[in-house]
Amino acid sequence: MNQLIELKRVTTKKDKPDLSSLGFGKHFTDHMFVMEYDKEKGWHDPRITPYEPLVLDPAAAVFHYGQAIFEGLKAYRTSDNRVLLFRPSKNIHRLNVSSERMSMPPLDEELVLEAVQQLIDLERDWIPTKEGTSLYIRPFVIATESCLGVKPALQYKFMIILSPVGAYYANQLQPVRIFVEEDYVRAVRGGVGAVKTGGNYAASLQAQLKAEKLGYDQVLWLDGVEKKYVEEVGSMNIFFKIKGEVFTPALNGSILGGITRDSVIEMLRSWNVPVHERRITIQEVYEAYQRGEIEEVFGTGTAAVISPVGELSWNDERMIINNFETGELSMKIYQEMTDIQLGRIPDPYQWTV
Ligand code: PMP
Repeated sequence: MNQLIELKRVTTKKDKPDLSSLGFGKHFTDHMFVMEYDKEKGWHDPRITPYEPLVLDPAAAVFHYGQAIFEGLKAYRTSDNRVLLFRPSKNIHRLNVSSERMSMPPLDEELVLEAVQQLIDLERDWIPTKEGTSLYIRPFVIATESCLGVKPALQYKFMIILSPVGAYYANQLQPVRIFVEEDYVRAVRGGVGAVKTGGNYAASLQAQLKAEKLGYDQVLWLDGVEKKYVEEVGSMNIFFKIKGEVFTPALNGSILGGITRDSVIEMLRSWNVPVHERRITIQEVYEAYQRGEIEEVFGTGTAAVISPVGELSWNDERMIINNFETGELSMKIYQEMTDIQLGRIPDPYQWTV
């Protein structure tokens, strides 16, 4: 499909936020992308318009039964003023995996990529330049049909909004303290944990609050049935380096397949580091720890790229990982990944667009 994207520009641009205190997801650019879906026309009227509030019927299905999906990726400005996206087609494809699971209509992936590119091109001057900063891209779909019936809605809205975001780390990687959660669960196999739908994040909040109250930064999620197998850390995938080899939970139907996860696996394999995707029990992590074999633990995700784990608390056992310091491999992956994202080195994987 080669649809023309209509453009309606703002008449007055917003003042840009203070670049030294951007935070995350607090400021939004001048324009957004919108298109609608209905049964008769399919996806239609793709357009870039001024950023503005939505008017929705109070009976819109999204408010009641939660048909809502989203994605998150970043645009980076290089030192020679190019704009790079990191594997955008992967995010756009994952959006369609999410839409299928949530019984929503599929999007034309080429059109979405074109929309992302045109919107970013228009908002170029919103991409911050400081080290570690970027323009966060949030595509999402909501069910807009007004009908209080539990069934797939007949009308939807797809939108893309952009938010300039600050650096995740003030200067260097900061290890985090993790609480292994054994009461609350994030997802179960057969459920929706493997896709990006809002309810997963709402469901995670109680455990996050509990961990914070106990003095931890984030939660390590175990499987929802036996509470035995390691799944994810916060909203990141998790990796363990044990005796020189790297282990990460296999994608089992309740874990979100992160694009950073996929990239880290490919990168490690290209460095000839053995990587195993398999089921990992928290018990075996603890036993490896007791034998002194755990060298590094880290989370991976778009927001932080790499988030070293300095402490894992499980059953009153406190495992301190690598003296609460960022490991060598974590550092090396972070460096290589951010160098590629920022166009500082050639991209041997052809990930950047
Ligand atoms: N797991 C969950 C639950 C997430 O929300 C995210 C962030 N999208 C990730 C893992 C990491 O995915 P990615 O590397 O694609 O950002």
